[in-house]
Amino acid sequence: MRFEFATATRIVFGASTLKQIGPLAAEMGKRALVVTSREGTREAPLMDLLDEQGIAGVVYSVAGEPTVEAAQQGAQRAQQAACDMVISIGGGSVMDTGKAIAALMTNPGDLLDYLEVIGKSKALTQPSAPFIAIPTTAGTGAEVTRNAVLASPEHRIKVSLRSPLMLPRLALVDPELTASLPHEITASTGLDALTQLIEPFVSVRANPMMDAFCREGVRRAARSIGRACEHGDDATAREDMSLASLFGGLALANAGLGAVHGFASVIGGMFAAPHGAICARLLPHTMEINLRALEERLPESDALHRYDELAQILTGNDEASALDGVAWVRELCEALSIPPLASYGLTPDDWPSIIEKSSVASSMKGNPIQLTPDEMREVLTKAN
Ligand SMILES: [Zn+2]
Repeated sequence: MRFEFATATRIVFGASTLKQIGPLAAEMGKRALVVTSREGTREAPLMDLLDEQGIAGVVYSVAGEPTVEAAQQGAQRAQQAACDMVISIGGGSVMDTGKAIAALMTNPGDLLDYLEVIGKSKALTQPSAPFIAIPTTAGTGAEVTRNAVLASPEHRIKVSLRSPLMLPRLALVDPELTASLPHEITASTGLDALTQLIEPFVSVRANPMMDAFCREGVRRAARSIGRACEHGDDATAREDMSLASLFGGLALANAGLGAVHGFASVIGGMFAAPHGAICARLLPHTMEINLRALEERLPESDALHRYDELAQILTGNDEASALDGVAWVRELCEALSIPPLASYGLTPDDWPSIIEKSSVASSMKGNPIQLTPDEMREVLTKAN
């Protein structure tokens, strides 16, 4: 057994913890670039809390999935405004953009110097500027991960800026901030969280420390995702989903992912589809094909027992076996009206390029078994 664990320097979790942000941020800087989403009014209470501590806030809004350009412009904005820290308040896009900006504030040169695939893949050498992540969705767990996934629309690709030096200084997770999320976003981000707990649990890098987070996270997500969608103001359900998201972030950062995320990173670069929605749609089909492939080619794999255990946690039935877990997830996706991939413009003509690119995606390497091109085509066909 061999594993490593690294996370945000400090994690503060709980309803109304946003109120603590002033003194916490004051330990880190005087002028904050506050990254938020374009439609957001999220930052208003945060700005007041910072102001009370004499911290100046400079707002920078981003829309849609995070891009290379948004990170570059944000870093310029931070420099022009002489910011010494970054605070992201928003979903995964906002957190990843802020995380990349904080890295660029202390590392010399251009973002492209450090990006994989489309850039020079140089390693960051300096710790990021102090970065605080405040999630307002419950899905990505980006508040505790060490990478920022950025889209480059001109290349139709998503690439990661990745370094342990990018781990947030503070993750402040206040479930109350998710109370007003609409059904659709609660559903897709919640299923992303569930995926990020299932994939690390069956990953080739699974380890006992992350297993504990995965088991507890899956249990909470399973009992609360439906409730959080139907009754957004249910504080207990929201708390469960925020915790599931946080645990998913811990797990993926320290035990890797699998085929769902291998596909999602590629599809997200090629099509304007939210990450959570792609993962949600792929999850049941990928579980089903993974199981079949394991039974056919790796029948001794420990992952098969792990799928059984997942089924028992998901269904609450001690007798459940792996396929019951797949059925549970499929029914959940139907009940939550997760749209097919085709609704984002995917067609079978795209399969060869998606299969070629995703078979070398970093997340695909965590999958418990290497899927054949035919199996990958089957997943895509079913999810479309
Ligand atoms: Zn994800």
